[in-house]
Amino acid sequence: MAHKDSVAVIGLGRFGRSLALELVDEDTEVLGIDENPEVVQLLSGSLTHVVRADSTNESALRQLAVHEFDRAVVAIGSDLEASILTASLLVSFGIQDVWAKAISEAHGRILSQLGVRHVVYPEHDMGRRVAHLVRGRMLDYIEFEDDFAMAKTTPPADLVGRRLADSAVRTRHGITVVAIKRLGEDFTYATADTVIEAGDTIIVAGRTRQTERFSELQ
Ligand code: ADP
Repeated sequence: MAHKDSVAVIGLGRFGRSLALELVDEDTEVLGIDENPEVVQLLSGSLTHVVRADSTNESALRQLAVHEFDRAVVAIGSDLEASILTASLLVSFGIQDVWAKAISEAHGRILSQLGVRHVVYPEHDMGRRVAHLVRGRMLDYIEFEDDFAMAKTTPPADLVGRRLADSAVRTRHGITVVAIKRLGEDFTYATADTVIEAGDTIIVAGRTRQTERFSELQ
């Protein structure tokens, strides 16, 4: 395995598994590691390599050449001790890009203190995202780290039938309409001359709070 372009995914539970399979789909070589033989059996053939090993065991990881990887993901969530010990080993190997899943803020804080560069909170983030979808008109929502978000939504009444330039949506709502989709058509970029119609779907971008507010307008 060409370790430079490959990713080691440790812990093949629901999160690790879908991550690993997605990487393989995108033509990335994946070394999957899990201590559960049934999980390993299930995924053998789907990933580049799948190995049964205890990732808290340094020599086991070295035997698998995990220390030669540039990127590794600790996808162990519920077993806090295993997550922390594994992350600590990966950092001590000098792996540049260590990603780790955290199931609580305290867990995430410890991982950061260990030197894990990328801590992700899949359950927490997904919960927030779904809350947005459940609450308002949003059809899709993504929040970036730096207080910026994008939402796919339907237009509020006061935007319908006017050129975007005339509706002054930026100054009134603090958001930008990025793209627009008419029923049965594909998305196209929005311009100042775009006239929004009822039934359109739009993609808007802006500060998180303003994007949320805009998507709650009727
Ligand atoms: P999810 O919520 O994404 O399913 P889990 O934390 O439940 O995540 O799953 C973690 C996976 O990591 C399980 O498949 C488990 O067998 C594996 N795992 C836990 N501890 C170790 C370890 N020390 N070494 C290797 N794999 C481990």
